[in-house]
Formats: sequence, structure tokens, C-alpha cells
Amino acid sequence: MRTHAFAASIGAIALGVVGVCAGIAPAAHALPDRAATPKTLVIGVDGAAFDAMTGASMPNVQALQAGGLTAASNMPANPMAPTVSGPGWSSIATGVWPDKHRVVDNNFSAPNYAQYPDYLSRIEAAAPDRSTATIGTWGPISTTIFGSAVDLRAQGSGDVDTTSRAVAQLQLPETDDLFVHLDEVDGAGHSSGSSSQAYRDALTVADAQIGQMVAAVEARPNYAAEDWLILVTSDHGHTPGGGHGGSTKLERKTYVIAQGSEFAPGTVRHDVRISDIAPTVLAHDGLAIDPAWDLDGTAVNALHADDFDTLRPQLRTAQQESGPGQLLGWTDQAPSGWSVDNSRMPSGGAPEFHGWTFMTDDFFSNVELGQHRENNVRSRDVFAVADSDEWADVSPRGGNTFDSTLVSPAYELNGADTAQVSFVSDYAVDGPQGASVWATFDAASGIPRQKLVDYQSDGTRENPVNAVEHMTIDLPRDAAGALPQTMSLQFSYSGNNSAFWVIDQVRFSQPEAPVAPAEFSISESTVAAGGTVTIAGSGFGAGETIVAELRSTPQELGHATADDTGALSHELIIPEATPAGEHTLVVIRADGSEIAQPLTVTTAPGPGTDPGTDPGTDPGTDPGTDPGTDPGTDPGTDPGTEPGADPGTDPSTPPGAENPAPETPGTGQPAGSVARGGAQLAVTGAAGAPVVLVGAAAIVVLAGAGMLLARRRRSS
Ligand SMILES: [Zn+2]
Repeated sequence: MRTHAFAASIGAIALGVVGVCAGIAPAAHALPDRAATPKTLVIGVDGAAFDAMTGASMPNVQALQAGGLTAASNMPANPMAPTVSGPGWSSIATGVWPDKHRVVDNNFSAPNYAQYPDYLSRIEAAAPDRSTATIGTWGPISTTIFGSAVDLRAQGSGDVDTTSRAVAQLQLPETDDLFVHLDEVDGAGHSSGSSSQAYRDALTVADAQIGQMVAAVEARPNYAAEDWLILVTSDHGHTPGGGHGGSTKLERKTYVIAQGSEFAPGTVRHDVRISDIAPTVLAHDGLAIDPAWDLDGTAVNALHADDFDTLRPQLRTAQQESGPGQLLGWTDQAPSGWSVDNSRMPSGGAPEFHGWTFMTDDFFSNVELGQHRENNVRSRDVFAVADSDEWADVSPRGGNTFDSTLVSPAYELNGADTAQVSFVSDYAVDGPQGASVWATFDAASGIPRQKLVDYQSDGTRENPVNAVEHMTIDLPRDAAGALPQTMSLQFSYSGNNSAFWVIDQVRFSQPEAPVAPAEFSISESTVAAGGTVTIAGSGFGAGETIVAELRSTPQELGHATADDTGALSHELIIPEATPAGEHTLVVIRADGSEIAQPLTVTTAPGPGTDPGTDPGTDPGTDPGTDPGTDPGTDPGTDPGTEPGADPGTDPSTPPGAENPAPETPGTGQPAGSVARGGAQLAVTGAAGAPVVLVGAAAIVVLAGAGMLLARRRRSS
């Protein structure tokens, strides 16, 4: 790579807010076939302008496009970094932008590779057995950008030599991950410009060299058992007359072309950036991407469209702006669920920037060059823009202060007491302006809005925030202590011919809501044998069926099914044969866990005894009376449905005879108390008989005093 005439000098950009990359979790469909060995080849073509490639004969690259992914992508430009190779290849190799890797020219004076190493070094750290290599024509590729952990770092004397070394490397069985850099397209661009035939010829030569490398991959003896990802990209383009470093479309427009098992043939995407190359390679190799790495890129198949991206079909051409040309690149129509409050927005100004509007990077960054818009690297596809500078450039206007609020959908809250919000935020300043993010809640809650973010301005030209903002919100409660039902976000920006604020990828999430423990109560704490009680429960699974059992010796009382809210209510008949005494009413849940409540059973009123004399109030009286309570009449309480429930409840034992219930076994709960459920009670039936579940149902058992005592102890 020759030395370029362009010289840029900017300081490291200090960020007011340190962002953390969006969570990267490779989607299941993105995982390569684990039966095959993952292998990767990334080929970088220096200075290959994407828009010039369509006019050149490049059959090998076109074959890769036809078989996989094509994604055009803009490089940042000044003031973040000029469109030159040091920053460009560093962004490709590391997966972060120049404000993190700090390579802002070709002098590599203060690179931050220690914090943001190249992807081959990350592969070596995670999987030292993999064989990694980089071969490049431009020297810094193998000496500086890729680190010493890489197994092989070699420089070719020219692209022919580099290609032949790369082919030899691809013929080695052990080669796993290879980065190749070709430099001579850039040379042709400098000599003749990107509109020249010489430049197109150089692209064709590079294409043939790419073809040699692809052929070497496909000729590997073990190719059928390997899973290759082949990627082609570029660090920058060239002006029509030659040269780069500036902010024009031809200089900034690069691309990610990829063929591999994770990409369907002919895939075209608008949300991919060159920072995604490194994580895409890591994901292909099955290596976990640690959020602590703070990568800007995301494995391509882990990218998710946001609401703004749905506007792409509605994008239209500029009304007054001339920079974007005939590009379909903006709309003032908010996506579904979103709205823009322009009630404080003066009339007039540039129509494309009248309040919050939505646009692509091709549109936004080309309205006027060199005003920080090229720094907007963390937005993808379509994003939201509030730009007081560009708006103010058109007269007449009804005032000087741009003031507009973007309002998100009302997100349903799930009952958890926190919520997480994240969004890309690119806030540039060049005059008086301010911005804030508010959380608002459903009107019924009466909870006032809360400010989440406050960006100020001292009026100097800067880009103090260019990050992914993450925040956890402790949700406020209303006067009665209840959480709000919904939460919405308001993005408010005002500025007087200053700069702009870009918002993208607004994500809202909450932790799982706490699950209320299942519980039930019994309508009566004491019931006569043969009488009825009603159980009322809540906190069960929607549609969960439980079975109620009475445990003396276990006898099933009935089934109940919870409604959609997890509540249930069911009347149970206490068998007449139930001995008087302290019992346990057990609800057995679908998962086999149990919830128990004490239940006192009194002697059933005999046929001749005055039924009107409150039989339930005096469990201790006359335990021996009425021996004729027909112990044989009720063996059929659901016989056979519960094999372990033993419905034949020992009919030879006279009721009451064995149940003096002298101890009040740990029934610390008053009548009507609520049993909280779960696993605190062991799943055993009386006398060690297992409780038998019927299908997805649970059972309620009545247990005698001794059982209850044992259970209480276990639970305490
Ligand atoms: Zn160059």
C-alpha cells in the first residue's frame, strides 16, 4: 500500500457515555452444521469501491454473492477517522469502530488493540488449537493490525505473491482461519481513479485471485467434511479521479459479501456493517462472544430488525436536500406504534428534518459532508433523526428552535419491578441544544414521568455521545403500591441551528415477573364427615389440573382445574367414613408438588341423631357414638381411579376409634389460613404409599394426625 496524500489529524474522541454492545446471542439458525469442521477465509480488497464493482467483470465475487450474502455498508469518515486503510482494516479486524480501536490514520500511533484485538487473536485465545494465519500485501496487516498470537503472519511482495502464499496455506489440511489482503486495486485507484478502465481491470484481476483462493478451498481433500465461510470486503473506496480519505459516497461505500452455510443464496441485507465481520467469523467457528468485549459488531445472523427498519418500503426521495440525489432514503411517517410530537416545532425549515424523521445512512450522511453525520456508525438500516442544523438551513421558518419529541409504543409491563431499555445514541453538538429521554407510564397509574437521560451542550463542536445506551429502570409504584401497567419512552430534542441526535435500535425488556406461590384456602376449618368444603386457590398454572386428597389414609376427593389466571375453586365432599380427628387436605399439583392445609373432621351425624344440632362444632364429643356410620358405604369413593389412594379405607376400623387426635400436631395455621405451595411437603402418601398422579393432574388427600406432624416437621 502506498503512502497516501491525505493527512488527517484528529484527537481521540472522548465519549461522555460508555456504551456496551448490544447483547450478542447467536440465533439457533445461525449456528453452522456442527458435524462439519468450521473454517473461515476473509479476503480484503484494498480500495475496492462497492459502487464501481458493479461495472467491472468480477465473476468469482458475483458467484459468492449469488450463493450467499450481499450487504453494502458505509465506512465512517472524518472526524471519526478518514477513509484510509489503518482505521478501515482495524475496524474489520477488531469488530469495533475507530473511537474504540483508536486507529485514526496509517501511523498507528496509539492503537487500542490490547483492549480490542483482531479476531484471529481472539480465536487463538479461545481455541488455541485452531490454525490461524494472515497474509497481506500491505505491511501493517501482518505486522500491526493482526497480533503476534496469530500462528502465521506473512507479507506478500505483491498481490500475485500474496495469492500464491494464500493458496498454499489453503492447501494445508490444518488451516482453519485465514485473512488475506490484496492491495493493487487501491494502487489502480490512486493512479487512475475509480471511474477508469484501469481500475475496473484491477478489480477483475483481484476477482481472479479471489477465484484461485476459492478454488483452493473447494479442492481440499476433506472439503466435504468442512464448513467454510468465505467473506470478501474492503476498507474504503476511491473518488472517480483517484484518492480517498474523504467523506464522499464512493470513498465510504464498502460491503460485506459472504458465502457459508449460515447464508441463504442471494441474501441482500441493509443492516450489516463491516464491524460485523469479526463476530460473524467467531460465531461461524462456534466461539462465544463475550459482551464484556464491547464489540460494536454483531454476528450477522444475530442481528434483529427494529421498528424503524420496517419503514424501508416507505422511504422516498428528498424534497429539498440535494446531497442524497434520487436516493429513496427518508420518511416523516413514524413506524406503527410510534408517534412524533411536533406541537412545539416551528413551521418551515427543511422538510426532511421537520421534527423527528426517519432515514438511512446513505441519505443522512450525504445531506452535507463533514458535519459529524459520518460518525453515526452504530445505527443500522433506518434510524430516527432530529437535526436542528440541517432543518435550520432552509428558510422561511416560523422560529429558530427545533423542538420535537419522539414517542415510543406503550410497552406492556409484566409485573416485574424493573425494566431494561437500550438504544443507539449518536448525539452531536455544534451550538445550543439539549436532549433527554423520559419514561412515562399509563395515565391510570397517576405516576409522573421520570427522566432517564439528560444530554447537555456547551456549544462547542463535538460528538460527546456515540454509543449504545443501556439502563435499568426501577419502576415506580402508584400511591397504593401498585406497579404501572405500561411504560413508554419519550425522546425529546431541542436545538438552535446546532447539530443532531440520532436514535436507533430501541429495545425494551423486563426480567421474568415474580411468580406468586400457589396457595389455597378451605372454606371451613372443621367439617363433619359426609359434609362439604370448598377449596379456593390461586397462583396455579393456567389450566393446571390439581387433585384434592384427604389424608388419613389417602382418599381422593376430586380434581380441579385452574383458569387462565391460575385460580381455581372446587367443592369437595368429605366421605362419611372419614374418621373424626385432625386431617390434612392436600392439593397435589401437576408437577407432583403438594400444598397442605389442616382440616378437622368431626363425626358424621348419624341417621337418628338430631341433624340440626350443629354437628360440626363439637368434634370431641361422643367419638364412640354412632358406630354405625356405615363404614362400608363409602368404599367406592372413586374406586380405582387412584391406585395408590386406597379408597377402600380400611372399612373394618370403626370411625373415630383410632382417631382421638390428642395432639394438635403443628397445625399452627388458624382456620381459613392459606397454605403456600411448592416443594416444602414431601411427596409421599400415608403409610408410605406413594401419591399417584393422574395424567397432568394433582390430587388432594386428607391425612391423619401423625402424617401431618411428620410433614410439618419436614417443612419447617
Ligand atoms: Zn489507498
